[in-house]
Parts: sequence; structure tokens; C-alpha cells
Amino acid sequence: MGIVVQKYGGSSVADAAGIKRVAQRIVNTKKAGHQVVVVVSAMGDTTDDLIDLANEVSPLPPARELDMLLTAGERISMAVLAMAIHDLGHEARSFTGSQAGVITDAEHGRAKIIDVTPGRIEAAIGEGAIAIVAGFQGVSQTTKDITTLGRGGSDTTAVALAVALKADVCEIYSDVDGIFTADPRIEPRARKVPRISYEETLEMAAQGAKILHLRCVEYARRYDMPIHVRSSFSEKEGTWVVKAEDVVQEDTMEAAIITGVAHDRSQAKITVVGVPDKPGEAAAIFRAVAEAQINIDMIVQNVSAAATSLTDISFTLPAGEGQTAMTALSRLKDAVGFDSLQYDDSVGKVSIVGAGMSSSPGISARFFEALSEAGVNIEMISTSEIRVSVVVAETQVEAAVNAAHAAFDLGSDEIEAVVYGGTGR
Ligand code: ASP
Ligand code: MG
Repeated sequence: MGIVVQKYGGSSVADAAGIKRVAQRIVNTKKAGHQVVVVVSAMGDTTDDLIDLANEVSPLPPARELDMLLTAGERISMAVLAMAIHDLGHEARSFTGSQAGVITDAEHGRAKIIDVTPGRIEAAIGEGAIAIVAGFQGVSQTTKDITTLGRGGSDTTAVALAVALKADVCEIYSDVDGIFTADPRIEPRARKVPRISYEETLEMAAQGAKILHLRCVEYARRYDMPIHVRSSFSEKEGTWVVKAEDVVQEDTMEAAIITGVAHDRSQAKITVVGVPDKPGEAAAIFRAVAEAQINIDMIVQNVSAAATSLTDISFTLPAGEGQTAMTALSRLKDAVGFDSLQYDDSVGKVSIVGAGMSSSPGISARFFEALSEAGVNIEMISTSEIRVSVVVAETQVEAAVNAAHAAFDLGSDEIEAVVYGGTGR
């Protein structure tokens, strides 16, 4: 009898009807002979609503109190779900993150899991109950305060619990049938990917595909925990996220060259104009950005103009952190001696991802040709072993995704993607 960890996202438990539907699914899994541990997100848009509420009473709510508030969202779902399962004649016990043994560091709003000691969960399932755990939260080892793992963190709770419990699989349920070759909302011909490696999933998630929380995939890769991404609204087999050796296409026995196209509209671009071309300048700029705790993504430095010996440095970052970065950089203006700063948040990033590309020449050329035929202008480029990304104008993101999807024959002949719920999580 194996242990299955199931995680249900906010759109799957958006209302009483959703909770009852999920309760039935959980009971079916139990009846099929598994020990079931469930991780739930807050119902529907509860987390956003709680954040709005906090901002109404305080423009800058203390991080400790904000975490305390947000964890209430998941606590509502866990208790209500346990009640719905009881109503179906099965025993369910709900646990907060802290009760479930999710131990974190003390970084409110983005706490990292440092240990999982799920004694109470093991006891509950050992006694034949279904354990329901509040996602996205834990307790700090040092301060003993309640923490949250960052938006979308319930995925990470689920994988961490699955690893600690030595579960057979971590099933992550949302309102789409799995991971698609592109976001079905803008690419109607997107196809479901049956199997995908941790590495490709990480690249897709990092490049904006709203499929899984990045940290949950890193965690799963580190401990080789298979993730089955599927919909709580259908019985269909979803997408298996597994180690690279286990991904082969049935027909060719080789990994696909391109697995999917990801896009991200949440980025902004900063250009530092007129930077003196001498050692230490880039270091000073990026040190300032790092000290503001900002994660940057692509960086481009031009060759300096011969006449002036000045160069421009552009980089992308999450638009939400644009203001902080601009403030930090302005302070450097005299010390570094650059001319000015430019800020542009009407950009988007489009990436092609695929493990097969490292052994196939010409992938970038094919991608760029497709973009040019679609009239899309490329502003920045970056690559990894298994990814090529471009920054384009936000208005051209959709055209770029469609062009890349077609250029690599990713489309299916029939419409496969059904979006069942509201928010995609
Ligand atoms: N409810 C939290 C959020 O929306 C955590 C989660 O859904 O995973 O960010
Ligand atoms: Mg959510």
C-alpha cells in the first residue's frame, strides 16, 4: 500500500461544490488502496483578497503579521475539506504546516523549508485517516513564528511532504490537464506533453510558464520525486515530470528537440546608458541590484563606442521590482559615472525549451526566422543548454509564441487543451 500525496490548487477548491468534488476524488484514491496525504491551497482568490485586505489597513503590513494572515486562507480550505470527507464517511484530519512538521527559516513571505518532520501525518495515515495539510506555510526553526513560502508555495509543500513520507508520487491538481507545449490561453493548438524532465520543467517555469512553482521542481529533482501534473476536473492522465532518462518519445525513442514554448509578461527592462568601459563598472551596478535583493535575468552589454568609450548595459528583472532597482541604481550615478537610466515594462519574454536542442544545430536560426516572418523584433537574446529566450515588445508576445509553436511543429490537429477553472492555479 503506497503513499500518495495530492495537492489541490485554489481553482480546484474555489467553492463548496469544488471542495465536495475534490473530497470525492480523495476518497476514491483512498478506496483504491492508497494512504492519502492531501495538501490544499486557499480557496479561489482568497490569498489575493487577504493581501488586498492587509493593504487596506496598512500600506506596509509587517511581514510577520502578513504571513499570519495569509496562512488563514489554507487553514480554511483544509478544515472544510476534512469536513466534506467526513461527510462521505471517511476519517480526515487537518493539520497546519507547523503541525505537519514543515520547518522553515525565518524569512517571512519567502521562507525556505529546512526540514520536514511529519510525525503527526504518519500517525494519522497509519491509523487509517486521510491527512489534510495546509499548503504554503511552515514554522520558523529559530523564531517559532509562522512563515509562508511565497506565492504558489503549496506545490513545494506537497513535494517536500512527499519526499519526507517517501511517497510513490506527488500529484499536483489544477484546472488544466497537464503541462502543454504552450499556454493554451494564447496557443489554441497547444498539445499536452506526456512526459517532461525536471530540467525542462525548471526552464519552462523559470521562463514564465505558470505550471509549477520553481522551487517545487528543484526540490523534486533533488530527491527524484515524480510529479504527476493533472486536472481535478477530469480523469485524464496528465503530465509526468520525471528524470531525463525516463523521458523518451514512443516513436523515436529520443527526446523531442523542442518540448515547449514559454512566455512571461511580468518582466521589465532597465538600460544603464553611457557606462564607462572599464573594469569594475558592471560589478558595481549588479552589486547594487543584488543588495536590493532583486533577481535579474538576462544581461546584455554592448561593445563600447570607439569615440566615447562608453557602453550601455541592459538587463531584465521582475517588473514588480523595477522601482526598487531604479532607486538603487540612481544612487550610483555619480560613483559609476553613467549618463542615465531607462526603464521599460512593456516587454515580454518568449522562450523555447527542449533537452534535444543541445545536440541539434540550427535551432536558434529556425526560431529567429520564424520570429522575423511574423514581424517580431528581438530586443535581447539569452540561451542555456536547453533553452533560447528572446525579449520582445509586450504587444508581440502572442505572435512570437504562435510563430515558435508552428516553426517547431508543436501544434496538434485537434483542440486538446481544456481550461476548466478560473485562475490557472
Ligand atoms: N494560496 C497561496 C497563493 O495563492 C499558495 C498557493 O496557492 O500555492 O500563493
Ligand atoms: Mg493560489
